[in-house]
Amino acid sequence: MSKEKKTEKDLKEKKTKSSKKEKKELFAEYPNLWESRSRDDIDHTMAFAEEYMAFLDISKTEREFVKNAIEALTDKGFVDIDTKKALKSGDKVFSSIKGKGLMFAVVGKEDAFKGFNILGAHIDSPRLDLKPNPLYEEDELVFFKTHYYGGIKKYQWTTIPLAIHGVIMKKDGTKLEICVGEKDDDPIFYISDLLPHLGSEQMSQKANEFIKGEDLNVMIGASKLPEDDSSNACKYAILKLLNNEYGIDEKDFVSAEIEIVPAMKARDVGFDRALIAAYGHDDKVCAYPALMALMAQEAPARTCVCMLSDKEEIGSYGNSGAQSRLYENFLVELFAKINGGYDELGYRKCIANTKMLSTDVSNAFDPKYANVSDKRNTAYLNKGVKMEKYTGARGKSGASDANSEFFASILRIFAENDIPWQTGELGKVDAGGGGTISAYLAKLGMEVIDCGVPVLSMHAPYEVISKIDLYFTYLAYKCFIENIK
Ligand code: MN
Ligand code: MN
Repeated sequence: MSKEKKTEKDLKEKKTKSSKKEKKELFAEYPNLWESRSRDDIDHTMAFAEEYMAFLDISKTEREFVKNAIEALTDKGFVDIDTKKALKSGDKVFSSIKGKGLMFAVVGKEDAFKGFNILGAHIDSPRLDLKPNPLYEEDELVFFKTHYYGGIKKYQWTTIPLAIHGVIMKKDGTKLEICVGEKDDDPIFYISDLLPHLGSEQMSQKANEFIKGEDLNVMIGASKLPEDDSSNACKYAILKLLNNEYGIDEKDFVSAEIEIVPAMKARDVGFDRALIAAYGHDDKVCAYPALMALMAQEAPARTCVCMLSDKEEIGSYGNSGAQSRLYENFLVELFAKINGGYDELGYRKCIANTKMLSTDVSNAFDPKYANVSDKRNTAYLNKGVKMEKYTGARGKSGASDANSEFFASILRIFAENDIPWQTGELGKVDAGGGGTISAYLAKLGMEVIDCGVPVLSMHAPYEVISKIDLYFTYLAYKCFIENIK
């Protein structure tokens, strides 16, 4: 090759190389974390996932999550805020919201009026609740009637193992806690479906019609007492059994809170064990890393708070839902006890200076159903925590649109701390949408943005997430509360 030609080739190579480098700098790239992270990160990912799965298996309902979280917090030195007259840096406090929501905090070094750093998730998940008069017998089988809670595809709840969790307040005022269907030798409960041999008419109906709300009746018994040929003998046998076991009768169900949830445990998915299938990832897959991020704090600069709320799946109503004043009461008390007394303007300044991540899940892109998402604006499995500037539906309606200044300040902190993130919307513009608790907290005046783990088959009885997304979401939450100002 002549010298001239060689220089020409060198120049060409140099040019491609520099344009490649420039492209990398200019283009938004969201790498797959399994490929881009270290062996150490992956070891931590696998260990963190195991702890999450164990916690999830014993925390399927909001009440159970609260109970187990308080146990973990108490072990770490957190005490009920009621037991403290004043709070100083390093103090750790919690407050149960009716046993179905939870607020907890680690007090920071800075003055309270400078604001708090908050992580807020919800701990209720879609499920079937018992009706007030649930028990009936039909053709010598006994059932519980249910009313579904949250957005479900009804047909997904048939022919899967179900468990019964909840509380029954007995006539003597004692509270009975029930959990049947989770232990290996427990019975499970079941909703039947039609055999395909006789299902041709059913199969020709629309998917939202062929299993109706009134069809979600859970089979709970099928026997009789010996030599009882009276009417309702099967229902009688079950009631007698329940009375012997728990000391309850049929009317005790009226005031009870009984939830029917899938009896499946969290399991690894795939030969590589990269994913987790479980009930209730929405939103415990954000609540758990938020809990862990808070528990990792000893004496943070700003006071760090975690809010775990109930009723998100039905609009965050009620006094345990995120719209309830009880959550704000904790913030007021926290402020007053750090500040050495309540001062209205000081508190309002504190909230105006408060920064929050609304830590809720979003849908993960599913190549099987690619047409509902904008591929350039959707979250993917394995690309880390999803930062969502706005949610909403039909023209962003109902969205809490995070301020650009606040959003960018988080991204700067993530960049400084090597925290990967991705972004996206919940589906194509006209495909649908959804909401989170962010709007209710933003209303108080704090800065809020949605930020959570992408979920496959969201709201199904058995949802799927990526272990590496879970671990890096934990790191993102920890980074946020430790660094945002
Ligand atoms: Mn959610
Ligand atoms: Mn949800």
